[in-house]
Amino acid sequence: SRKPLIAANWKMYKTPAEARSCAEALLKSLQDHTRDEIAICPPFVSLSIVLDTLSGSNLAVGAQNMHFADEGAYTGEISPPMLTSIGVTYVILGHSERRQYFNETDELVNQKLHAAFRHKLSPILCVGEKLEEREHNLTEEVLMRQIELALRNVSPNDASSLVIAYEPIWAIGTGKTATPEMAAEAHLLIRSQVARRLDRKSADNLRILYGGSVRPDNAPSLLNQPEIDGALVGGASLNPESFIKLVRY
Ligand code: 13P
Repeated sequence: SRKPLIAANWKMYKTPAEARSCAEALLKSLQDHTRDEIAICPPFVSLSIVLDTLSGSNLAVGAQNMHFADEGAYTGEISPPMLTSIGVTYVILGHSERRQYFNETDELVNQKLHAAFRHKLSPILCVGEKLEEREHNLTEEVLMRQIELALRNVSPNDASSLVIAYEPIWAIGTGKTATPEMAAEAHLLIRSQVARRLDRKSADNLRILYGGSVRPDNAPSLLNQPEIDGALVGGASLNPESFIKLVRY
């Protein structure tokens, strides 16, 4: 049985001072929460302060991106060992906003995934179709390709820490949520592709999160689907009260 993961993606929001006060509020209300694993993914400059605030608690901390190299002349980038050295345990990879605005390709996401496994970071690999792709019945094809390319040369052994987030692009920040049935159907496709590309055991152990306009009111119906192993939450994670409510559904 898979322990659900509820991850907060703060995107490019909150100063370090705001991040600390939000982390303090989350710690206060969620430190006894055991049903789900919880991870907070702040911007890079707030990782340390959020790690300090949540130190020794049940709340994990993740980065929203990273470079694949350990070090090098890559101005403006952050490496995997920089993240692990301060205590970061998760990293979001291949978010649709990175793919769309920063030209991240499936090949680059694959390199980053290998780097995460090398450094014992748990990657939250994001996949999902655009609205036009869904309207043209290309959802399955898109998901199969994204997963095949992201998992190239990944072994079942590596994949024990892998998390996949299904984030239909048309549902991100739009208020339009996939219905629980639509999400569950996509999650089944993703799980069967992982079984083909890795093995059945990896697929059975894999946590697949849903992301895209998850809010306190729609979280229960999504998270009650057996195929949905948690959520990746953007907008509703910025306000501590709403994130706490969402987690404690
Ligand atoms: P919203 O919850 O704001 O739709 O964002 C979803 C998302 O992109 C999480 O990574």
